[in-house]
Amino acid sequence: MMRAARRLLFLAVITFASSAVAAQTSAPAPSVDALQTVATGGGEASRAIVLHGSGAPIIVGTAGLNGLELYDLSGRRIGAVPAGEAVSLDVRYGVLASGNQPPATIVAAADASNYSMRFYAARGNSLTEVTARPLPLGFAVEGTCLYHSAQDGTLYAFAVGDGGEIDQYMLFATGDGRVDARLVRRLHVASTVEHCVVDDRNGQLYVSEQAVGIWRFTAEPETDVVPSLIDAARLGRITEEVAGLALYEGGDGAKWLIASNASGGQLYVYDRSKDDAYVGTVTIQSRGASISEPGGLYASGATSAGFPAGMLLVADDDATGGSNYKLVSFQKLAVALGISVGTPQPTVTTVSPVFPTVRAIVETVPVAKAGDAADDPAIWSNAENPAASLILGTDKQGGLHVYDLQGKSLQFVADGKMNNVDLRDGFKLGGQSVILVTASDRTNQAVAIYKLDTQAQRLINVADGKQPTGLSDPYGQCMYRDVRTAKYYVIVGDPDGTTKQWELIATRQGKVRIKLARTFKFASQAEGCAADDQTGTLYVAEEDRGLWKLAADPRRGSAMTSLDTVEKNAKIKDDLEGVGIYDLGNGRGYIVVSSQGNDSYAVYRREGDNAYLGSFAVVADPVTGIDGISETDGLEVTSRNLGPGLEHGAMVAQDGRNVLPVEHQNFKIVPWKAIADALGLEVRQ
Ligand code: CA
Ligand code: CA
Ligand code: CA
Ligand code: CA
Ligand code: CA
Repeated sequence: MMRAARRLLFLAVITFASSAVAAQTSAPAPSVDALQTVATGGGEASRAIVLHGSGAPIIVGTAGLNGLELYDLSGRRIGAVPAGEAVSLDVRYGVLASGNQPPATIVAAADASNYSMRFYAARGNSLTEVTARPLPLGFAVEGTCLYHSAQDGTLYAFAVGDGGEIDQYMLFATGDGRVDARLVRRLHVASTVEHCVVDDRNGQLYVSEQAVGIWRFTAEPETDVVPSLIDAARLGRITEEVAGLALYEGGDGAKWLIASNASGGQLYVYDRSKDDAYVGTVTIQSRGASISEPGGLYASGATSAGFPAGMLLVADDDATGGSNYKLVSFQKLAVALGISVGTPQPTVTTVSPVFPTVRAIVETVPVAKAGDAADDPAIWSNAENPAASLILGTDKQGGLHVYDLQGKSLQFVADGKMNNVDLRDGFKLGGQSVILVTASDRTNQAVAIYKLDTQAQRLINVADGKQPTGLSDPYGQCMYRDVRTAKYYVIVGDPDGTTKQWELIATRQGKVRIKLARTFKFASQAEGCAADDQTGTLYVAEEDRGLWKLAADPRRGSAMTSLDTVEKNAKIKDDLEGVGIYDLGNGRGYIVVSSQGNDSYAVYRREGDNAYLGSFAVVADPVTGIDGISETDGLEVTSRNLGPGLEHGAMVAQDGRNVLPVEHQNFKIVPWKAIADALGLEVRQ
């Protein structure tokens, strides 16, 4: 096995190297004639864009200390806008609509005079600065690019820099129509990055690491980064340094990535429909002289006289007569390369979320432990004072948190690696009615048992000594109260599918111990579970397969009914994780399941045949700065009033990627009202 893998690697390297050699020894690349702008006023040209609106398109380019300059399509300068020392810019159309703000055309520019970002609103041929407040980046910025998410319409700006920085900001419109930004996350490469570009439709960020090559990353912050090296110096086709990047959008069969092979004086074209496979090489010339070192690039599908398939703009910092921009007809470039222009499309993103979206209104402080740590919540609703309700959340690397509804941690109990947690009220213990809390403790392979002191807002350990499960790894967990017998149970699953149910018994000394009631088994790992006390039903998510139900009363047997599977329902994707129940009363309501594999939540009818009703996703709120929820493990749902904004209950869910900015994992609170509105569901009155 080892030897075979090594041989494969060897073959792959040989193939890569020989194709690079072929590129260097083949016939000279075709050359394409270009028009050019006048020399920039600031003596520098790093990137230009095409601005199109009602009239003829114009060109806006960075001009160093002269800020941004505007040119018409004959290359004449028609205006300038102060932008500090402008080194890069990008544009998006139809963005930042909010409340009373109509969608706008927004230009973002990187200002190297104080290493900050600036924003402009474009109307006709004029740019008006709309930067809400200074946005210092804290590093030597070299480039910027915008990303208009097709997932949820959010506008992001990436700022890239001298030290390999790739910072992602979420942009939002302020009440007075200005543009502000919040840091979402930081990606890195090892050395200088001057250029980037984003494919909005596919959520792919391309960056050129000058001395290394072209990287591709996922642009959505609620996804894993997934780096791919598209081309490289030394091992690939890049001669020495790579510079500008542009995307041409012509629909099927005409989705191109164009990159400046700067040191080689060439442009490379790659096919985005074919995993960015290399397509061909061209050089650009103007008045008989080739561009010796093409810099920043921009491709536009906006058509005009002489540019029937739009244009490619190339920054030429070594032009005789001073730095300027070259205007290349994309039609001519495509003919030279023998590629299709398709149907040229101006860069407009249609927002097409896969699922209806909602937003969280509270997030808890991050858990103390790094990595996959936060896991499963429970909710105690305070009937007398709903706003003083409490959230419990496990840190599966070390304990159990008590949070208030503002997300503040009131207590951390470091008793072990608590995986899942649940609670039930009304448990008789030591002559009192208490709120009983149990958790699956992976450190001690035990059931951890507490009572929740709601006055002190603290958990008090009431286990009658260690309560061993006999499981190799107590994992999924939930509680059940039989409303007829008034018996309380805890159900805990092992990763091998073995699941045990114990009755919780109060001792005379005011402690609680467990007594085995039954054992049953799933074919594979099951974790999330929720018991419906009113109907006596236990719902369990078998991670790779689907949602099951069975009788919660151990005396009624363990025959299971499959409610949904990942094979049958394309809207859910494994792993299936947390399960919660929304109670509308009279046995009616909803079952909510975390569909971790596609970062969404599936909703089923509680009554009848448990029909699948739809799914929703939780996305970021740029105004509050609370990020979306993704890769959710545990969740809990309540229909009880949790106070202002949460009168109809809430979903509390673990967030596997706590960004905006990047911090340890946490839990987020989503009003049920928002979920009900998004999916057309009922709320408990
Ligand atoms: Ca996780
Ligand atoms: Ca739970
Ligand atoms: Ca799991
Ligand atoms: Ca998140
Ligand atoms: Ca956050």
